[in-house]
Amino acid sequence: MAKTLAGKVALVTGGSRGLGAAIALRLAQDGAAVALTYTSSPQKADEVVRVIEAAGGSSLAIRADSADVEAIKHAVTETVKTFSRLDILVNNAGVATLAPIEQFSMDEFDRLIAVNVKGVFVATQEAIRHMGEGGRIIMIGSVNSDSTPFAGLSVYALTKGAIASFTRGLARDLGPRGITVNNIQPGPIDTDLNPADGPFADGLKKIIALGRYGQSDEVAGMVSYLASPEAAFITGASLKIDGGFTA
Ligand code: NDP
Repeated sequence: MAKTLAGKVALVTGGSRGLGAAIALRLAQDGAAVALTYTSSPQKADEVVRVIEAAGGSSLAIRADSADVEAIKHAVTETVKTFSRLDILVNNAGVATLAPIEQFSMDEFDRLIAVNVKGVFVATQEAIRHMGEGGRIIMIGSVNSDSTPFAGLSVYALTKGAIASFTRGLARDLGPRGITVNNIQPGPIDTDLNPADGPFADGLKKIIALGRYGQSDEVAGMVSYLASPEAAFITGASLKIDGGFTA
């Protein structure tokens, strides 16, 4: 049986670790050639590429800080230059800062907006220059855009709320071109950003209906579905994958 994404090309921002690495591996397993960006972990990015290539796939790691407009534009150009097209953009790179609002510095505020919002806008605007009918934009937002279960998350929630709104507007902008835009909103997922044995884990597990953290592979499965031809009629949606965290 043909793989669902055979012949497609994907770009995953922040693909060296965590959710992004699992998403890159899954899209490659589905048959796509996958470019991924990273900022600080070249070895981890190279390892994702190595695993994909060892399984017979094609992959490319590109250092590109999502806060740097020119670096993102370069990442899109490199992807298209290397693989000749671009069908799927996964806006995954994101940063979180947990701090009391009274002490939230302007520099941190600007950094969260730059990576989580402006970087997504730039990557999307560049990517759609190359996308045709059947193109896919997939955001990795957060349940925190709708629900912030404890203090200190307001700026992060603000950025992820912006992504949910941007997704709806973009669905209207790009619908006529046959490009879908969707926003996956994970709850607590076990990564370096939010380890299942970290300082908040016990409190969080108590309010997750399933009583456990999610795994990156589980989110990657949802990305795989949204990227597939089967999901062609889903657009403008924010879809939660949170183990009942917000149930
Ligand atoms: P991690 O911190 O584990 O991994 C982050 C990834 O993004 C790394 O590959 C990192 O690259 C890359 N990255 C970080 N900053 C930048 C940047 N400025 N430019 C380019 N790449 C960057 O995070 P997660 O995998 O947990 O999170 C991925 C996404 O999922 C984020 O958008 C996050 O907000 C969202 N999310 C995560 C949840 C969770 O519980 N884990 C829950 C809800 C949403 P490098 O290795 O080079 O540093």
